[in-house]
Amino acid sequence: MKGIYSSLKAFRFPDRLAAIAEGRLPPPIHVRLKPTNRCGHRCSYCCFRTPGLPMGAAMDERDEIPEPKLLEIADDLASMGVAAVTLSGGGDPLCHPAVLPLAERLLSGGVALAVLTNGSRLEGPIATALAARASWVRVSMDAATPGTYAAIRGVARGEFDRVCANVAAFAAMQGRKAAIGLNYVVTRENAAEAGAFVALARGLGAAHVKLSAAVVSRDPAENAAYQAPFFEDVKRAVAEARARSGTDGFRVADKVHAPDSAEEGFRRGYATCPTARLLTVIAADASVYSCQDKAYEPDGCLGSIRDRRFADFWLGGDAARALDALRPDRVCGHHCVAHGKNLVLLEYLGLDGDHAPFV
Ligand code: SF4
Repeated sequence: MKGIYSSLKAFRFPDRLAAIAEGRLPPPIHVRLKPTNRCGHRCSYCCFRTPGLPMGAAMDERDEIPEPKLLEIADDLASMGVAAVTLSGGGDPLCHPAVLPLAERLLSGGVALAVLTNGSRLEGPIATALAARASWVRVSMDAATPGTYAAIRGVARGEFDRVCANVAAFAAMQGRKAAIGLNYVVTRENAAEAGAFVALARGLGAAHVKLSAAVVSRDPAENAAYQAPFFEDVKRAVAEARARSGTDGFRVADKVHAPDSAEEGFRRGYATCPTARLLTVIAADASVYSCQDKAYEPDGCLGSIRDRRFADFWLGGDAARALDALRPDRVCGHHCVAHGKNLVLLEYLGLDGDHAPFV
């Protein structure tokens, strides 16, 4: 069974790595596109919506990229050779009224497509189109019971059954190409249900589940203290559920790292970020950000594309100048989803070519 998570994916794109090694900015391999900040859920752990949580300080929940601009961005991404786009939040991308034409424009342009969604609107024509042509869809659920789901996500109790039904219908769709996965952010409210969630996911027909720990602070010690009371129990329950889940291709990606690893995960000892040159974020405020962890944060904003095309911004020099000025060792002392990738990329990019053949 081949892997779906890896820090080594960028090595499938040697032309982009060669450009970075030569000091040029190539087109991104992957773009996270946030079409809208609207969302029908209010999750307790959502970094964008909960006061005191550590990201998204500058997010305006009313922001949404208008359809003509979205389609212009899609055309640019296709013509630049961007290989993949993930539609994500901000809000729920399926809340955007033009998500179907956007998806069709990207797919017909040869861009691989994935969607992160709360699953509430994963139905009708957009679900049919994604099932037939997208690469994967991952639904954030974060609970195994209607009560916990409603409490964590700030929704009515019936929403749990509705999303479960959408996931099951998507998984059962005739001719489906897209893999369907579920996401579980572990908090103190849902930690006791992590094992049951793995079983639920498998029962709904999901191909995989991904579990990760909630990020509740920019201070690693506070984050570790939050996770410590339930960390061991979650690991044990997930391992047991994984053992029971069989060997027919269902995967469990347990990304809940030990609390004492948080210190390392929050430290950047490098002055440049290669991942931000390969994966960028276009957000619902029509600004480009260096990464998911800095979306809607002023120090992660590379520039606005409200009044210019993304291709002109990225290839015309402004993005390169903004990325050159961004110093992870000074401004990224917080959770960084790309830290592991950066370590291997920086080792590769820093290798003396005369010594490379001596494998
Ligand atoms: S937080 Fe990580 S991915 Fe984002 S700019 Fe800093 S080092 Fe790069």
